[in-house]
Order: sequence, then structure tokens, then C-alpha cells
Amino acid sequence: MQVRMAEHFGMCFGVRDAIDLALDLTRQGPLTILGDLVHNPDVVAQMDAAGAVRVHHQEKIGTSTVLLTAHGVADRVRLDLRERGLAVHDATCPLVTRAHRALARLVADGRHPVVIGQPRHVEVRGLVGDLNDCTILQDEADLEQLTVRIEREPELRLGVVSQTTQSLERVHELVETMRRRFPRTDIHFVDTVCQPTKDRQQALRDLAAQTDVVVVVGGPDSNNSRKLAELARGLGRPAYLVASASELRPEWFVHCSLVGLTAGTSTPDAIIDEVRAWLESH
Ligand code: SF4
Repeated sequence: MQVRMAEHFGMCFGVRDAIDLALDLTRQGPLTILGDLVHNPDVVAQMDAAGAVRVHHQEKIGTSTVLLTAHGVADRVRLDLRERGLAVHDATCPLVTRAHRALARLVADGRHPVVIGQPRHVEVRGLVGDLNDCTILQDEADLEQLTVRIEREPELRLGVVSQTTQSLERVHELVETMRRRFPRTDIHFVDTVCQPTKDRQQALRDLAAQTDVVVVVGGPDSNNSRKLAELARGLGRPAYLVASASELRPEWFVHCSLVGLTAGTSTPDAIIDEVRAWLESH
């Protein structure tokens, strides 16, 4: 098959910097990473192989050096680790920090914070972790909570940001729905979808228009990879999300002469190359 690559695909600077920092720290001594460094199984395995200990709860940190992941954490977590006397290294992506700051400014302005994203995603947990009161919206059904709240507090002003790896189109749709549903409510939206995510989504649109089938390479927990596959399907293209070449199935490509290939922001180049080689040889 012929393969066409998306104009923008694969690892972003935030993930590359996090991996470089983690590898550097493992060379200096025992290291614990608080969570998965990035949402890609190969990167996680690479960190395990380099000797980093991975824990998902801060109480379980057993080394004196800890690394926070690209997804960021709440300030209270950072503070707790420092108060315990740990050497805290921070791989939080600057574009995640930008989302934290945008949300903090909206709260300081007296607005009720609203985050568009997945409630259980580690980035969203970090974003809302310092707030006593906030609303997380994943889809239109979640607007019901706000309807009840606004009926009770008609003066409520909303400050809205999104998880950095959301689909920009979906975020705008949700904000527009909010504006229609609550026409008298003051809603201030700050677009915090990160530029690498936007670039990959736009490139995917172009790719889907030119190809028969789209393959997205990314881990099953990678939000931006999943969103790329959803976006392609929404544009009427069959799309498959695979973590590696071993997951590809020949039957997906019957009658396909040109396949589009892209990858999420946490996917290592070597995995993309393997998938490309498989596609070109079939
Ligand atoms: Fe940063 Fe965006 Fe990459 Fe996340 S996906 S690490 S926010 S650049």
C-alpha cells in the first residue's frame, strides 16, 4: 500500500523534554516517577528499563528524588512532596502550566471554574486538584449540573478552559452549547488546547480528505491519539488506533490503495516507523 504521512504527527516537545529529563535523572541515581511519564506503553517500558520506579500514589514514593510527569499535578501535591523533603523535578509541559494559570486567573476573577475534559484523566485531576468547587464537562449531558447550579445562583459567572489534548472542534461546540443554554450567563472561555494538538488535528483533517483509511499510532490511554481516530471517523473515514504494528490487521485495508498515517503526541518515532513499514509491505 501507498502511505501518506500527516503534515504534523507524533511526539511533541513536551513529551520529548519529559523523556530526556527522566532519562537524565535515572543516570544520576534512584528515581520515582509519579504516574506514567506519558501515555504510551513503550515510553513507560523504556522508563521501567532505565530503572525508574513508577508509583501512582504519592504516599508510595520510596526514593529521595521524584519526577512529576508532563501532565502536571495540583500545587498541593507539589507542596506536599517538598514538605516531605524530597527533591522534586518537574516535567510538567509548559502548555499544561499555561492551562493551570488560565484557570487560576478565571477563579481569581470570581468565576466558577469549568474544565472541558475527562474527569479521570491525570491532567484534569491536576487542573482541578487545588479547587474546592468546579465543574468538569465531558459532553452535553454534563451540562445538567450547570443548569441546576445556575438556577440556584443566577448571578454565577463561568470561567472555562479545556484539557490541552481535547478536540478543538468539540470544545468549541460545547462552549457554544453552553452559551445557547445559558444566554444570560457571563461565560469567559480561554482556549487551552495546546498548539501541537491543534496542528495534529488540522493535519488529520487534510489527511482524511486525501486517503481511504487512516491509521493513528498511539497508546490506548493517550487522549490526543484517541481524539485523532475519532476525528477521522467523524469525517467519514475508517480509522484505527494501534499501539504497535502487531495490532494491524490486513482485513482493514481491503480495497484500500492509499492509507493515511498519523500518531499522537506521545508516540515514539520507532513505533511509527514500524507501522509505516508494515503498511508499505502489504
Ligand atoms: Fe504539552 Fe500538548 Fe505535548 Fe501535552 S500534548 S505534552 S500539553 S505539547
